[in-house]
Amino acid sequence: MIKITELAHRQVAEALHGGGRCLAVDATAGGGRDTLFLARLVGPGGHVYTFDIQQEALDQTAALLKQACLTDRVTLVRAGHERMAEYIENAVSAVVFNLGYLPGGDKSIATSSETTLIALRQALHLLRPGGIVTVIAYPGHALGKIEREAVFEFCRSLHSNTYAVSHLTLINREYEPPELFSITKY
Ligand code: SAM
Repeated sequence: MIKITELAHRQVAEALHGGGRCLAVDATAGGGRDTLFLARLVGPGGHVYTFDIQQEALDQTAALLKQACLTDRVTLVRAGHERMAEYIENAVSAVVFNLGYLPGGDKSIATSSETTLIALRQALHLLRPGGIVTVIAYPGHALGKIEREAVFEFCRSLHSNTYAVSHLTLINREYEPPELFSITKY
């Protein structure tokens, strides 16, 4: 069964295809699968910055990277993604958000609309032309629904001369399945 994360990864891989030396950002490290994907994708000349507010998430991510011998390609940052502009100076090719809480972790520690929107603005500011920002939102729980609405409105407000924005969900899945927003900069 296909997952929405796979669809996001396909879009990111397409945007980074042939892009030379790439910088990418995982805005929500969580269990580390998105970081691992990005670390493989950017190749030996590229680099990934990964943010999370929980040490537990960064530890899980570090363990995955170690197994894959890709530790050198990633900088793990224990800080909110709303601070990414403090850590990254150069233009980035991709920024990946997978909102919500750490699977198997404390569900009360989750992304929130306010900081997610700050981070999205910073991500678009850092994004190089041709680069992509993806956001997976989870409207299946109350706060996730509020956050999804905020992301939807933010995406809808982006100027069509500068950004192509798409919105995708697997409509034959459970009630209120996750949704993927993708923003490409012209
Ligand atoms: N990308 C992950 C993966 O591949 O497994 C899944 C991410 S998980 C659904 C969401 C993560 O966002 C949690 O680990 C949580 O701690 C983190 N988070 C919550 N607020 C955050 C913030 N302001 N900045 C960065 N990460 C945050």
